Amino acid sequence: MTIVRDSFYINGEWVKATSGETLEVTTSGTGELYATIPAATVAEANLAVEAAAAAFTAWANTSPKERGEYLMRISEKLAERSDEIALTIANEVGMPLMLAKGIQVGLPTMTFSDNAQRAMDFVWEEEVGNSTLVREPVGVVAAITPWNYPLHQIANKVAASLAAGCTVVLKPSEVAPVNAFLFADIVHEVGLPAGVFNMITGLGPVVGEAIVAHPKTDMVSFTGSTRAGKRVMQIAAEMVKRVSLELGGKSANIILEDADIPKAVADGVFKAYLNSGQTCSALTRMVVPRSRLSEIEDIAVATSAGFMPADPITGSSLLGPLISAVQQQRVRDYINKGIDEGARIITGGVTPPEGLEAGYYVAPTIFSDVRNDMTIAQEEIFGPVLSIIPYDTEEEAIAIANDSVYGLDGGVWASTDEKAFEVARKIRTGRVEINGGAFNIFAPFGGYKQSGIGRELGEYGFEEFLEVKAIQHN
Ligand code: NAD
Repeated sequence: MTIVRDSFYINGEWVKATSGETLEVTTSGTGELYATIPAATVAEANLAVEAAAAAFTAWANTSPKERGEYLMRISEKLAERSDEIALTIANEVGMPLMLAKGIQVGLPTMTFSDNAQRAMDFVWEEEVGNSTLVREPVGVVAAITPWNYPLHQIANKVAASLAAGCTVVLKPSEVAPVNAFLFADIVHEVGLPAGVFNMITGLGPVVGEAIVAHPKTDMVSFTGSTRAGKRVMQIAAEMVKRVSLELGGKSANIILEDADIPKAVADGVFKAYLNSGQTCSALTRMVVPRSRLSEIEDIAVATSAGFMPADPITGSSLLGPLISAVQQQRVRDYINKGIDEGARIITGGVTPPEGLEAGYYVAPTIFSDVRNDMTIAQEEIFGPVLSIIPYDTEEEAIAIANDSVYGLDGGVWASTDEKAFEVARKIRTGRVEINGGAFNIFAPFGGYKQSGIGRELGEYGFEEFLEVKAIQHN
């Protein structure tokens, strides 16, 4: 049965959409229609910003404890409904259900409780000489999010901005929006004051741009493609609005010669394939010693064989489909491009996995003998496609890692953590994991170079939504 949502969440209530225009959401595993959502008009987007602006002063003046209590209740409700939300995201994004619950719902649940605690523990004022420094919320935040980890990205922005005392207009991705409606239902249930959180859905160039351009929007927090991020920054520049951008990546995973090669390669293949490679921080370039290339290729191919795609709900694979037909075609085009440019396919390819023709599946694919100047090593593919790039010296490996317009994440494998640290310090990215170090939601996340501006998560992510005022006294 198709899910039908026909309203926007504005000023504390569900308001019926006026234009009659709807957008379709498909089930990634089968290609069937999953839901329809309304496309907002610019007038509706403006109403949402006006509601957030009207609610700002009162919300900014609530105590951090009160804000923290609301956020904690949101976290509890997310946990209560985690099965339903995980199933929703498994349907609309295609991440296998067994992973979706922990990653797609577990992380946002923790992000809300973390920001609840942070609001309460934060030092809001300090003395510097004859000045009192006061931290204050930035104002009305336009939060624009993508589809790949949809609720995680919503939580990164909404939890931190509400904790800081900002009010919010959320414009979630139109490609995977159903989880955002469930989230707005939860916000409504916990009874946040009217106008503190608002949500409209629709197309980026229409409603996304409208909320960015609105004179009462003080800050834009955007996660998505570098292309759209540049556009958002240009519009925001007209009124010198604060902008935080979380954009694309092409992260390198350097494996040094003395590393535990089987472990490093198996972990690297998994990290490249997580969420079908639709992960901004995916380690999509495996930079390996040429002297060990054929051994590494064998391990990579054997590991890849364990990731045959399957239906994300009924299957038992860690690899599901891509999100959409558009994305599937884009990834196939990149695979063809890699072949044309002379990279060597060692597993996978453009032929769809057998028996899965209806959904948006792509066979997990590995190229070897990739040169870093090839398109598949420079551009974000956003599919289950790994490029193995050989190097001769450690300096060359580091140079390859840094030869990218992006700077989001990276990995280093070495025989000791000390050695891996030494290399990690030379990589120009916002994060680096060494010897498989786990994702940490309390540490800052964000990019150098064209991967973005600013940080999300933890204290750094929270402070993005604050201004600082210095009051001089005698
Ligand atoms: P996208 O840029 O197409 O869309 C992201 C959001 O921006 C959507 O809500 C969309 O409607 C909106 N949008 C599009 N054009 C807009 C415009 N002109 N003005 C305002 N809003 C606009 O990206 P996507 O395809 O949804 O997501 C994939 C991209 O996101 C990848 O490049 C990925 O690397 C990136 N991403 C980055 C991070 C990170 O934290 N760095 C995390 C996840 C995804």
